[in-house]
Amino acid sequence: ATMPPLLSAIANAGRHGVLVKSAVAMERLGEVDVAALDKTGTLTEGTPEVTAVRPLPGSGLDEDGLLALAAAAEHPSEHPLARTVVAAAGARGLRPAAAEEFVATPGRGVRATVEGAVVTVGRPGEHGARDGEVLDGDVTGGYLVGPQDSGGTTVLVARDGVAVGLLTLTDRVRHDASAAVAGLTAVTGTAPVLLTGDNPRTAARVAADTGITDVRAGLLPQDKVTAVRELQGGEGRKVLFVGDGVNDAPALAAAHSGVAMGRAGSDLALETADAVVVRDELVAIPAVVRLSRAARRLVV
Ligand code: ADP
Ligand code: MG
Repeated sequence: ATMPPLLSAIANAGRHGVLVKSAVAMERLGEVDVAALDKTGTLTEGTPEVTAVRPLPGSGLDEDGLLALAAAAEHPSEHPLARTVVAAAGARGLRPAAAEEFVATPGRGVRATVEGAVVTVGRPGEHGARDGEVLDGDVTGGYLVGPQDSGGTTVLVARDGVAVGLLTLTDRVRHDASAAVAGLTAVTGTAPVLLTGDNPRTAARVAADTGITDVRAGLLPQDKVTAVRELQGGEGRKVLFVGDGVNDAPALAAAHSGVAMGRAGSDLALETADAVVVRDELVAIPAVVRLSRAARRLVV
């Protein structure tokens, strides 16, 4: 028997390195009107490097002390930023202390008890705060701007509610990110949108590097869902969302079609998505949208 067109399309998508989970998922990919993309791990490779370690005055920490403290708190986390901090500490021969009472807050950061102190690593002004304190005032503000303008993500390390240092992590934009953005613009007829939990300056830089003009930054996981719904609008436009993190799972579920980046993607994102980009090529996504369109023309 000849294979039904949607099944052939799934087989072809596989050749592009995209695992489409069902015929319905294959069909929905071709129906999308606009694409929304996550930044870290999606437009960027998700394997950043620590490019600055900056203990704050009065913290009593040197660079190694700060990095070891952050690595201790990040050790249990699967987040790409956490893996990077732990690897950087390891590369300097540091042996981070054990962490207890670890808590990860998607889109914000981590908290753990390290040698009797509560240590947080995360988004400045959000997660460093304890009991409502905000820690990214004048002390840290001046340190953030430069690295963010060059596309780096700066996270704040706090100990017992006091900011003790900043780490800058710099990730590379994927080599095919601008080609994918152009491809998605061509297949959907609409310019893609960037949705990120990172800060506006870093987001703007990555957007500029990939040809995206519509950027929404500082989004928590639920804010990404709200953004997807806004894009749907009253007209019921169908949104394709591409992401990789635990923080992206709600948006992957809310979108008409959710696509996860497979290589470094979190289990939750991979399970929630309708399709997984196994070979980590972003340009495969517009290609698979085209395959779906072609298959639907044969079905109808
Ligand atoms: P994105 O939407 O770009 O993929 P996330 O939602 O995962 O990013 O994270 C948003 C922000 O929250 C990060 O830029 C960082 O400031 C902070 N953050 C989240 N998880 C961690 C972590 N494990 N360690 C440090 N910072 C984190
Ligand atoms: Mg991400």
